[in-house]
Amino acid sequence: MSQNFGYKKLLLHMCCGPCAMFPIRELLEGGGEVTLFFYNPNIHPLVEWERRFDNAKRVAEHYRVPLIVDDRSHSYEWRARENDGDDRCHFCYETRLARVVREAAANGFDAVSSTLLVSPYQKREIILEVGAKLSTEAGISFIPYDWRDGFREGQAMAREFGLYRQKYCGCVVSLESSSFFEKVTREHEQLVLSECLSFGVRFTD
Ligand code: SF4
Repeated sequence: MSQNFGYKKLLLHMCCGPCAMFPIRELLEGGGEVTLFFYNPNIHPLVEWERRFDNAKRVAEHYRVPLIVDDRSHSYEWRARENDGDDRCHFCYETRLARVVREAAANGFDAVSSTLLVSPYQKREIILEVGAKLSTEAGISFIPYDWRDGFREGQAMAREFGLYRQKYCGCVVSLESSSFFEKVTREHEQLVLSECLSFGVRFTD
């Protein structure tokens, strides 16, 4: 059952398709008006950003909710913070939520939130602190949903729907420290190769 926070129009930051499945269903069942905003310049490399954005489009279409997108991958910003630990994640959440709050305040939304709040792997306390600070400054609300109980159900929904389910958080640092690094890198190479071939690119020996 969706938690009711009394807002009228919510701009929901969408980190990826699988994490969005459960929260959107809950919000729509609760009767809320929801718009999605895919803004994730942390995602590395660009081919991975495109892969996650494709998922975002499928989920938006599935639920028939509007989807906004801005910008692409800026991994150098995250590379520059590779030894910063939690400060890098703070920067990451702040970068993304600041853009979402700005979009909301300029376009008549009275509240924002993020699908990051479904994941038990994200740093919830930092997200809540950053979200509350930015939205208060902009005169709107940050809704501190706790969807973590629905994380597994959301992942199962994503599997059933045939969504790509990523194996690392998103930034270059999280990719390089992932135990799936080699597997994911091979997938990226394959995707780039298929894209080149679909454009008729010919490779020399
Ligand atoms: S680990 Fe995740 S939250 Fe932290 S900086 Fe990387 S992408 Fe952002």
